[in-house]
Amino acid sequence: MNSGPRGQVWAHVGQPFDRRAYDVVVIGAGMLGAGCAAALREVVPGRSLLLLDEGGLPNEEGATLLGAGVWDAAGLEGHATELAERSRAELQRWLGDALTPRTLLDFGAERTEAAEASAEVLQAFDDMADWVDPEQLPHVTRREVLTYRPGELTLRLGQGAVAAGADLMLNVRAELTPGGVRLHRLSVTNRHEIVVHETHDITVDQVIVAAGAAGPELIESGLGLHTPHGRAYVQRPRLRQPSGPTSPLLRAGNLLLRPLNGEYALYLPPRSGDPHGYRPTSGRLTGVQVGLRRELLCDLLPRMDALPVLATEALGVGRSLADIEGAWLGLPGGDPQHAPTAEQVTPGVWLLLGGSRTRGGADTLGLGLVRELAEQLA
Ligand code: ADP
Repeated sequence: MNSGPRGQVWAHVGQPFDRRAYDVVVIGAGMLGAGCAAALREVVPGRSLLLLDEGGLPNEEGATLLGAGVWDAAGLEGHATELAERSRAELQRWLGDALTPRTLLDFGAERTEAAEASAEVLQAFDDMADWVDPEQLPHVTRREVLTYRPGELTLRLGQGAVAAGADLMLNVRAELTPGGVRLHRLSVTNRHEIVVHETHDITVDQVIVAAGAAGPELIESGLGLHTPHGRAYVQRPRLRQPSGPTSPLLRAGNLLLRPLNGEYALYLPPRSGDPHGYRPTSGRLTGVQVGLRRELLCDLLPRMDALPVLATEALGVGRSLADIEGAWLGLPGGDPQHAPTAEQVTPGVWLLLGGSRTRGGADTLGLGLVRELAEQLA
């Protein structure tokens, strides 16, 4: 790693800022932005680098904190396999013991060679015998995956980038300008309003937009370039069933149940991109208002027969949208199946989009992808 001086950190407007130029600016310190900054310090340590975010590191509202944090390379092919391996090496390097192997029970519909009988396998796990209806999902395959906390990873990546010489600015909203970036440093009034305290224009050779769902809009409003990308609002309902360090993950189709904070969390990728201007609205279950958005409910209800655990009180449905954690995802091409992407939108401007994170998504491929991008910039 770089042995040069640590970068500077600006966390609030009381710390004066007077830089005029950077070689590279990374907008957004989610998992992809922080990972990209860390990779750039290693691949092109000679270039000055600023990593910035509208919130903290990572921002509590971004997609990063809601990610499942599951590295699972099953079913990947071609270049994706290579990216997954590179990501795994990076995850191991940054997380060490905080990268935890767990068993994943995949209740595929198909009977494959490695499949076992669901009923028997579930018996081997405490209290899980009646989670799955073995008549509807008779076969299961087990595999080892790696789990981590995306927020912890992002913090380590960001701190690593600073230790290796990147500058970091938090609480700053960036805008793209031709040839540079405009920085609006934010502060909070005593009435809890977020206001722009000061604005700086800086010139930048290369900008990497890693602003999650806000990325395509930044490019459109700043540079007038239209992109085909979309976004979608996902939620992470909780399943109040106890979990511990050896609890397995369960997958049935595109639904993933992951042990988290002593319970389970439930991940469903979006079905499609949300239309422009869409505001998430919560749904109704037998006439009662619940906090899960309607589309997610429609996706969950038909699964309750095969997964009876979902039809119990353990499923936290809340009363309003705010009761269930949620976040906006940037979807490459508006396609929820799409792998994370890094693309050059115009000379000097790159866009990183994570997509939905489970199965072949940013959790598995992201750190390999940002490493590749850093090498392309070299
Ligand atoms: P990813 O998985 O792509 O890293 P996240 O949604 O977790 O996605 O991260 C995107 C980050 O970008 C968030 O932390 C968000 O605060 C930040 N962000 C979004 N728009 C801006 C902006 N205009 N200026 C600065 N930061 C931004």
